[in-house]
Amino acid sequence: LASMLKRPDLLIERALVGGEWIEAEGGRTFDVTNPARGDVIARVPDLGRAEIARAIDAAHASQKAWAARTGKERARVLRRWHDLMMEHQEDLAVLMTAEQGKPLAESRGEVAYGAAYVEWFGEEAKRVYGETIPGHMPDKRITVLKQPIGVAAGITPWNFPNAMIARKVAPALAAGCAFVSRPASQTPLSALAMAKLAEEAGVPAGVFSVVTTMDASGAGKEFCENSKVRKLTFTGSTEVGRILLRQAADQVMKCSMELGGNAPFIVFDDADLDAAVQGAIVSKFRNNGQTCVCANRIYVQAGVYDAFATKLAEAVGRMKVGDGLEAGTDLGPLIEPKAVAKVREHLEDAVAKGAKVLTGGHGDPLGEQFFAPTIVTGATREMKVAREETFGPFAPLFRFADEADVIEQANDTIFGLACYFYARDLSRVIRVQEALEYGMVGVNTGIISTEVAPFGGVKQSGLGREGSRHGIEDYLEMKYVCTQV
Ligand code: ADP
Repeated sequence: LASMLKRPDLLIERALVGGEWIEAEGGRTFDVTNPARGDVIARVPDLGRAEIARAIDAAHASQKAWAARTGKERARVLRRWHDLMMEHQEDLAVLMTAEQGKPLAESRGEVAYGAAYVEWFGEEAKRVYGETIPGHMPDKRITVLKQPIGVAAGITPWNFPNAMIARKVAPALAAGCAFVSRPASQTPLSALAMAKLAEEAGVPAGVFSVVTTMDASGAGKEFCENSKVRKLTFTGSTEVGRILLRQAADQVMKCSMELGGNAPFIVFDDADLDAAVQGAIVSKFRNNGQTCVCANRIYVQAGVYDAFATKLAEAVGRMKVGDGLEAGTDLGPLIEPKAVAKVREHLEDAVAKGAKVLTGGHGDPLGEQFFAPTIVTGATREMKVAREETFGPFAPLFRFADEADVIEQANDTIFGLACYFYARDLSRVIRVQEALEYGMVGVNTGIISTEVAPFGGVKQSGLGREGSRHGIEDYLEMKYVCTQV
């Protein structure tokens, strides 16, 4: 793998703790494997709680001096970090595809997307505005200061090894917080390479640490129980989010949670069908269905159901499954065998309850972690896929009668992250966007993510927002000052 990089030193097998690249106590490591081939591509330190606590100590020790710099100075460092990420975009993309499996083109896109958060929040560092409020008495003056929370700790998943961290560390550093990142054990290499570039950009020792460990729950406990940590930010499943919220309750810690989704994708009779097919492809199959905003349930109005299904099957039939490092690959492997098992489980459950396989429905000769993109028709609300996120290349088509019917079905879930719909009638567009109980709505588009907009969910999909001018607020405290004159 190192031989594929212009900067082989970006393939790092050490953790960054308080400005030092360390090995674990006793040299313990864990393997990072390439999901397309199953071969071990790196061995990274398997840190214990004591080493994670050291990273927290270093963050605590360095945070105040970092916060004391002007916003403009912090902005300059973040700008340099962004530029370095873009300068080394290709190397970061190769590392990402090697550890995560997504096609190289998607990895390049994610590096640019992650870097865009670093750029954006660097710019926002200069615009952390407080307030002055007209006093309630003639001799009272009221001001509101915005100050960094302190040490923030982040736990992130494997599906976006760069961007999920960038979205958290960038606003944290911009606000003047220090940040300790625990990347997913499947994908630590992207995080370590980013941290190396952050160091080169001038992020001071201790302000950003990356603690690699197999022991996710130990890291979660250290983050929640260590009194120097003031903020926990997590992206992952709702199930783990609930555990962390319970743990964080003991210190009444501030939490941001980006949790699971169960995105409906709705196609109305008046939609532009070709555009809807394109939107469904990108929304359903990006990262092989492994994103929390991927369409999970595709609802199609009765009048266009058959036509949409035929066009979607044609488009899916043109997609190429393969190794993400090979040119022309549209769909890489799934992250691990467990992920393939979930796709099979949803497929078999749907078929047992009456769904018909239109295309796919089987594994792939390339290996056990590959699965053919699959469409089924005749999906119903009794099926598992109606309630749970598949997180894989499985597209169930539900038929619906009218607007009231589909809105009721779309909202019938504990989740509320992203949703999508295609329609042309203006009044309908406005009615439906207002009625859907979701944090994000794509209208006539299947791609909504950008650093300039607030990403986040309602209901059990999360707390807080990432990106946009609102994203930095999650790393700031408000302090009200009342002055007698
Ligand atoms: P995913 O299906 O994306 O892996 P998870 O919620 O299981 O979703 O994992 C998201 C991140 O949370 C991963 O980095 C994982 O290692 C970590 N994680 C899993 N369980 C815990 C836990 N009990 N405490 C802290 N982190 C955890």
